[in-house]
Amino acid sequence: MTTQQGTVLVTGASSGIGAVYADRFAGRGHDLVLVARNRERLEAVAETLRRRHGVAIRTVAADLASRAGLAEVEAILSTDARITHLVNNAGFGSAAPLASASVDEMERMIAINVTAPMRLTYAAVPALRARGAGTVINIASIVAIGPEVLNGVYGGSKSFVLAFSHALRKELDGTGVAVQVVLPGATGTEFWDIAGLPASNLPADWVMSAEDLVDAALVGLDRGEFATVPSLRDAAEWEAWEAARRTMLPHLSSARPAERYRTA
Ligand code: NAP
Repeated sequence: MTTQQGTVLVTGASSGIGAVYADRFAGRGHDLVLVARNRERLEAVAETLRRRHGVAIRTVAADLASRAGLAEVEAILSTDARITHLVNNAGFGSAAPLASASVDEMERMIAINVTAPMRLTYAAVPALRARGAGTVINIASIVAIGPEVLNGVYGGSKSFVLAFSHALRKELDGTGVAVQVVLPGATGTEFWDIAGLPASNLPADWVMSAEDLVDAALVGLDRGEFATVPSLRDAAEWEAWEAARRTMLPHLSSARPAERYRTA
């Protein structure tokens, strides 16, 4: 069966947050393209959702850290006119300090957390823009605000996702293409096992379920929110941070150094 709602492509849909996005969009009547490396797990998620929601689901087993895997998904995004939503979710993190982390693993992290969402967005946006409708959802992290909290390359990669989303939103303003960036706090998924710090080590009242995280993010999406931080109680704190950034912006370029840096 194919629906009229538009197809949602979700990366990292074989587990955790991506699998919940897949379930929720299927529940809203969207067909899906689900991407991850593990073909068996991806098919199992797809089969459950086909039975539960009766939508059409294509699975694509691809490694988004490889050029070939990325190219396969880029080709789908740039040629399948039914795709209306891109959820850039696939990624992994690390708790290892700089001094003990493998630099090759850090490079793989940049490939999946930075290069993949950037290239997939470039592949998807021209068609969405031409149609004057569509949605790009980028999964960042609260470490985008505090890149020193976990591994620094992970923090830097998620700061990129936030910064890229800001620029994307500005560029796409008025085109009908919406951009949302989601900043999850600690979420109870396999992420933490892969990062080398199982979530059982964290205080229980820090860790949100992937279901609550995605449902909250979708409330933000439905409200047309740009940045959604599901665990932040007081939205005024985010607004104050944004206001401070915007206050500084006009003062950041000058032909002369600021007074405090002038030589005597
Ligand atoms: P997860 O359960 O480990 O899910 C990660 C997903 O990404 C899996 O489906 C995995 O599938 C896929 N993936 C990983 N590497 C891939 C690659 N090279 N190519 C294609 N797919 C790949 O973790 P999660 O918590 O749901 O993470 C989803 C996103 O949320 C990530 O971007 C993460 O940084 C972000 N996030 C998580 C938390 C948290 O506390 N959990 C907090 C903030 C942000 P395969 O292994 O089958 O490829």
